[in-house]
Amino acid sequence: MSLRNLPSVDELLSEPVLQALIQRYDRRLVVQVVREEVDTLRTDLRKAGADVSRETLRAQIAEKSVIRLHQLTAGTLKKVINGTGVVFHTNLGRAVLPGDVADRIRDLAAGYTNLEINLSDGSRGSRYDHIEPMLRTLLGCEAALVVNNNAAAVFLALNTIAREQEVIVSRGQLVEIGGSFRVPEIMNLSGASLVEVGTTNKTYLRDFERAVTDQTALLLGVHTSNYRIVGFTNEISLEELARLGQQRGIPTMFDLGSGTMIDLTEYGLSPEPTIRQCLASGIDLVTFSGDKLLGGPQAGIIAGKREWIDRMKQNHLLRALRVDKITIAALEAVLALYLAADPVEQIPGLAMLTASQESLRARAGRLARSLRGVVPKHARVSVIRTTDRVGGGAYPIEELPGSAVQIAGLANPDQIAAWLRTADTPLLARIQEDAVQISVRALLPGEERIISGLFARCFKEELA
Ligand SMILES: *Cc1c(COP(=O)(O)O)cnc(C)c1O
Repeated sequence: MSLRNLPSVDELLSEPVLQALIQRYDRRLVVQVVREEVDTLRTDLRKAGADVSRETLRAQIAEKSVIRLHQLTAGTLKKVINGTGVVFHTNLGRAVLPGDVADRIRDLAAGYTNLEINLSDGSRGSRYDHIEPMLRTLLGCEAALVVNNNAAAVFLALNTIAREQEVIVSRGQLVEIGGSFRVPEIMNLSGASLVEVGTTNKTYLRDFERAVTDQTALLLGVHTSNYRIVGFTNEISLEELARLGQQRGIPTMFDLGSGTMIDLTEYGLSPEPTIRQCLASGIDLVTFSGDKLLGGPQAGIIAGKREWIDRMKQNHLLRALRVDKITIAALEAVLALYLAADPVEQIPGLAMLTASQESLRARAGRLARSLRGVVPKHARVSVIRTTDRVGGGAYPIEELPGSAVQIAGLANPDQIAAWLRTADTPLLARIQEDAVQISVRALLPGEERIISGLFARCFKEELA
């Protein structure tokens, strides 16, 4: 027990480093942090029991308080470099917005906007009116509504159309996405009852037909966007679902998930339905995410029949799911790129997905050359072929042939990966067969220079 040496908060505040902090930050904040550090140290000292001098304790607390304050005030969210080759990486924030879109957000976010006002007559307007005309044009639908994310879109639709009634879904489509979006759970929370039909691998039109009752409020299809059932399978097509709905006077909806505006088969990806194709099947409503293949901000979009979208706009739940002006600004700007001539070049996620193998190889070659200059002699830098992924719960089995720079011959690859991950600009690399690998597909322009700077420092300072 050496608590008698524990300095008081007042005494600590006279330390020069803490005095300097009081000049920069709110005094109460500094006092609070110092007090917490004193409390922590008191607990530690009780446990440890060794005698430590008052000067040492004072220096220790001062140092810890400085670090804590810097961490607190800097925030923890930061830019990272994505060397994983997963384009819409959910843990890395999914889609990267185009630079022009970010500029537009900055412009609109730092001032007032006409978010909910009609400038022509000064009357009250709706925030949802800004994006709807663009979506109607792009998708050829009657109406569209934007909410916080696709989970919210599905939730709002189910609650509006089917609360206290039944929704029929194929057993093969009861998906879980990202651990938290599960069709049965969302259904339950929305107040609708799930009626499962068919089997895991085979569901037919007649399964749906037999399950329809006077309680049926919706026929739902869910895109199995993050898995595939292969072998002896059958699913009811969107056209069949739409036709059955029309015959029986029941609305139909398809949760597409990762919605693409563009047919990516032209770029060598396997066929996925575009949003327009889904709507063209005759289905009443389609829901999809803003930050997956669309390449925009986090948002959920519901497109389709005006009758149902108008009802969703009347649902008070919408108030809890509504998007802010920043999302609207970002989505509007990204959608405008789809109206322009070359969306695939303008939208980073799409440019990454469609990059040619030659361009990726050339890029990896350049990165490898610059890394050879900074890694130690025993390390072997080479360009290898790699498998990249779409990510964001889309194209689960699509293997995108890519290029990576591999740094092999390292004694401690995990330690190096950890150093890179915790650098001021963190780099997320892959470790495979004891080598560090950086896929170039999801690197942004200019990040190669940062990467070679990181490796130079990593080997020089930390692990020489
Ligand atoms: C991704 C996905 C969701 C969830 O979308 P969020 O925008 O992440 O909320 C729901 N359904 C399907 C089919 C999906 O692919």
